[in-house]
Amino acid sequence: MKVGFIGLGIMGSRMAAHLLAQGHDLRVHNRTPEKAQELLARGAHWADTPAEAAAHAEVLITMLAHPEAVSRAALGADGFLDALAPGALWLDSSTVHPAFSRRMAEAAKARMLGFLDAPVAGSKHQAQAAQLVFLVGGSAAALEQAKPVLGAMGTRTLHVGGVGMGTSLKLVFNHLLATTMTAFAEGVVLGEALGLSQASLLEVLLGSAVAPPYLMAKRDKLERGVYEPEFPLQWLHKDLQMVATAASGAGTVTPLASLSEAVYERAVRQGLGEEDFSAIYRHLQGVATRHDSRDARPARPGE
Ligand code: NAP
Repeated sequence: MKVGFIGLGIMGSRMAAHLLAQGHDLRVHNRTPEKAQELLARGAHWADTPAEAAAHAEVLITMLAHPEAVSRAALGADGFLDALAPGALWLDSSTVHPAFSRRMAEAAKARMLGFLDAPVAGSKHQAQAAQLVFLVGGSAAALEQAKPVLGAMGTRTLHVGGVGMGTSLKLVFNHLLATTMTAFAEGVVLGEALGLSQASLLEVLLGSAVAPPYLMAKRDKLERGVYEPEFPLQWLHKDLQMVATAASGAGTVTPLASLSEAVYERAVRQGLGEEDFSAIYRHLQGVATRHDSRDARPARPGE
């Protein structure tokens, strides 16, 4: 299949590599061209602009950081939407919000293009191993068109409804990812403040019923205090902002996500945005060290 791919970060570079390995004819574009080198050496073609990536593409895939980057690639100068031939499909795997997916679907439809929101569950290692799970919103016909590329990059495709529903499910996933990470980190920081060692806290809590399974894979980072990014903290912060927008648009509230969002925002301001999101632990450790809480508030039961 002729495939265009825009966005060669942690996720996109690995996803695109599987498309090449499966024999697809791949044309790639990225804001930072150096990140395409490995793919070009393995046979991908370089596109100077998003529009060039779309030339002749049957399917165009975006895996970009946030809605602004997606919108610019699609509709900005040299955007790809006007370059795709009628009947082609745009598959957006970026984590965005449902209203944005619906707007992009409209823009695609106006050009007689198909559209799927197809964000992914899974991180760097699942992308590397072609074990992503695609959360898909859109028509059954568009999904049929996308099957050869989805099958090359993932193990499961969950078709959860019309346009915007894949993105909706992804925001639910990331609400839970962000709030459970914050809760776990805060719990460990509390334990340390009470005099327990980090080693015993991680040994007892990880793998227990109160810790989500994904946290096992974060153990090494928490122990070493080195947070090489698998999922950059700044993008999970962006997702929490989108959770708040989507929730208010849907007439509901997400108080826990809002509390968590404030913590992630402070971590970004501290300079941790490009670290793995588990660096929220490092952020909270720093806050605990600086905060002499007993001076700042009245006595509580047990004091
Ligand atoms: P990443 O490594 O930071 O890559 C981000 C990509 O977006 C890069 O191609 C980057 O280009 C591009 N980009 C960022 N800002 C841009 C801008 N202003 N204009 C044009 N391009 C821009 O992040 P990632 O982890 O691959 O994440 C990509 C998407 O997947 C995000 O929506 C993220 O939320 C989602 N996601 C990530 C994970 C994960 O575990 N990492 C899992 C599921 C979903 P440059 O290379 O030039 O910076």
